[in-house]
Amino acid sequence: MIIVLKCGSTAEDLTRVEKRVTDLGYRPHPIVGVERTIVGAVGREDKTPLHDLEAMECVEAVIPILRPYKLVSREFKPETSVLDIAGIPVGGPALAIMAGPCSVESHEQILAAAEAAQRGGAQFLRGGAFKPRTSPYAFQGLREEGLELLAEARATTGLKVVTEVVSVKDVPLLVEYADVLQIGARNCQNYALLSAVGESQKPVLFKRGMATTIKEYLQAAEYLLDKGNFNVILCERGIRTFETATRNTLDLNAVPVLKRETHLPVIVDPSHGTGVAALVPAMARAAIACGADGLMIEIHPNPGAALSDGPQSLKPDEFEELIAGVRPVAQAVGRTV
Ligand code: PEP
Ligand code: MN
Repeated sequence: MIIVLKCGSTAEDLTRVEKRVTDLGYRPHPIVGVERTIVGAVGREDKTPLHDLEAMECVEAVIPILRPYKLVSREFKPETSVLDIAGIPVGGPALAIMAGPCSVESHEQILAAAEAAQRGGAQFLRGGAFKPRTSPYAFQGLREEGLELLAEARATTGLKVVTEVVSVKDVPLLVEYADVLQIGARNCQNYALLSAVGESQKPVLFKRGMATTIKEYLQAAEYLLDKGNFNVILCERGIRTFETATRNTLDLNAVPVLKRETHLPVIVDPSHGTGVAALVPAMARAAIACGADGLMIEIHPNPGAALSDGPQSLKPDEFEELIAGVRPVAQAVGRTV
C-alpha cells in the first residue's frame, strides 16, 4: 500500500503514520519528496487492512500497489532512482562501467586488470574472490586473500570494488572489503542470502538468474529493498535457452521491461550473456542502445591463462576499443561514457 500524506504535512505527521503502520503489523518505507511525502507499507497481505489510515488528518489517500513486487515497482516510486554507490552516481546520464577479471587470481593479475579497467574508463573493478563454480573441482577463488588483493587494487587505482558473496556466513567479511556486494545468477533466488545482504545495507549488484522470469527476479529484488536496502543495481546476464551457439541468450528485452517496471538502475553483462569474447562489444553497444544504465565486462591481462571464464574475457586493448565503440551509441541515446 502507498500512503500519500497531504501537502504541507510535518515530520511529526510522518512519524505518526509510520507508527500506525508498524502497529498494524506492516513495515513503513517513507519517501520524502519535494512536494509530497509518501509511505510504502509492506508486509504480510493477510494482516489488517490499512484503509483505516485514511481517517488520519494528515493522510490524503491510501492506494494499493497492484504489482507483486512493491518497493521495486514504479507504482511505489515513479521516478528513476539515481543511486549514489560509494560516491559514483548509477542510473543517471553517465553510464556505470564495471570491469575486471572473472576471478582474482594473483597480485600481478588483479593490478594489471585494475589498471586496464581504469584506462578504459571503468569506475568499478569487478573480481570474484569467492566463486560459485559449476564443478567442485574448478578453481573456487582466493577467498580472503583475494579480498586483500582487491583492496590493494582499489588503493592503487581508486576504483570501487564489486565482488560476489556466495554464502550468508561470508556477508560480514565481504562487507568489510567490498564497495558493492554481487549476488550472482546462481543465488538469484537464495532468499536467505538476499535477506542477509539486504540487512547489511551495502550496495548490491544483483544478477538475474539463468532461469528466472522477470517477475520472479523483481520479487527476489524485493527481499533486498524490504530490508531497507534501496541501493540495488539490477543486471541482465543472459538466460538459459535451447540455443547452444552462445553460452547464454542475452535477453535484451529484459532491459526495457525492467526499466518500465522498476525505478532501479539496470546494467547488462554481455560477457556471461554471450560467453564469447568476440561477441561482447556488439552486445555491449546493443545494451546501451536499448537503455541499459551501464555494463559489466570481464577483462583479463592474459585471457588464455585465466583460471575462469577466459574465453569470454577481453584483453585490455579490446576493452578500450569496446568503450570507444559504445561512446557514439551512448551519445545517440543521451548518455555519456
Ligand atoms: C561472474 O560474474 O563471474 C558470475 C559468476 O556471473 P553469473 O552469476 O552471472 O554467472
Ligand atoms: Mn565469470
